[in-house]
Amino acid sequence: MSQGDNRLSENQQMRKNEPASVNEADKAFQAELIRIVGETEVLQNEPLKNHTTFQAGGPARFFVRPESAEACRALLALCRQEGMPLFLMGNGSNLLVGDLGYNGLILSTDRLLGIKIEGNLLRAGAGVKLSQVAAAALKAGLSGLEFASGIPGSVGGAVYMNAGAYGGEMVNVLTRVRLLTPEGEEKWVPASELGLGYRESRLMKTGEMVLEAEVCLAPADPAEIKATMDDYNGRRRDKQPLEHPSAGSTFKRPEGLFAGKLIEDAGLKGYRVGGACVSEKHAGFVVNDRHGSASDILAVCRHVQETVENTYGVKLAMEVKILGDFC
Ligand SMILES: Cc1cc2nc3c(=O)[nH]c(=O)nc-3n(C[C@H](O)[C@H](O)[C@H](O)COP(=O)(O)OP(=O)(O)OC[C@H]3O[C@@H](n4cnc5c(N)ncnc54)[C@H](O)[C@@H]3O)c2cc1C
Repeated sequence: MSQGDNRLSENQQMRKNEPASVNEADKAFQAELIRIVGETEVLQNEPLKNHTTFQAGGPARFFVRPESAEACRALLALCRQEGMPLFLMGNGSNLLVGDLGYNGLILSTDRLLGIKIEGNLLRAGAGVKLSQVAAAALKAGLSGLEFASGIPGSVGGAVYMNAGAYGGEMVNVLTRVRLLTPEGEEKWVPASELGLGYRESRLMKTGEMVLEAEVCLAPADPAEIKATMDDYNGRRRDKQPLEHPSAGSTFKRPEGLFAGKLIEDAGLKGYRVGGACVSEKHAGFVVNDRHGSASDILAVCRHVQETVENTYGVKLAMEVKILGDFC
């Protein structure tokens, strides 16, 4: 359907006219999904709490796991044609999904795999975990990804967020990325054109999908690479509440300040709503330590933002992405 065309496709018309339980349009849509990715990789009403590190969030109307760029392109085209909202999900480690879930299609990248190393260049599929990429670099004696070994995201999510830790960031090693545009065009784009900044990229505006990323690393002694990784991961274990479900740092660092320190100084450590609270170990983390709802988590976040703004006049922006419908 072209832009501005207000006719509804046959499936959209059916979906509009029927109750959800007997929705013939969803059945037809599901059949198309199965044709594209295969029966085992299409789920309906899939609880997203099973796919996010917060371990909260209601069902996705559809949840699919494509294995190839071609399948991703076909899914994007189908959703566009049928007016089905689509969201790209990596490892769900920076997402807060509402308890009522997501009324659209979640495209999980977790089968877009593969790591290739040629010389100092390493290429990895969007769904590969950062810990696996870092381990492959270590094995090949390549330095540059030590910072990423403890970040529980995927390659695609790390590019989108320009993930970073301990002085390292994706922007420092990324050379180029294979993107799929919402219109279905596939292209390699140099990292310099991705608008990478502090937890920021152009993908947040364009909706482009990362299919694959290439990083340039430097040869180094594997023992030294490993020692650095062990040091970073030890520091994480000491300082971060890794024993509880979270999405890492909940808020972005305000310029020249630390979110965790502001939150702690405002007396908010341990502040709780239902099953979620500000971590006692690290105030920059909101944790879902007692199996709370997404609404509990959001209520804690909103209270923290309000209190810090009222106390210090600093607006804390969410680093975590919020998705779907809340009660
Ligand atoms: C315990 C813990 C520690 C953490 N520590 C750090 C840290 O040190 N540094 C840091 O930066 N982050 C950290 N994080 C946050 C998180 O791991 C990163 O933001 C990570 O980059 C998110 O990747 P993901 O695959 O989980 O993305 P998701 O959470 O699945 O998605 C995040 C965003 O990326 C988009 N996205 C995902 N894949 C793609 C793709 N292929 N193409 C386009 N867009 C895509 C999604 O649409 C979404 O908007 C931590 C999280 C946890 C739970």
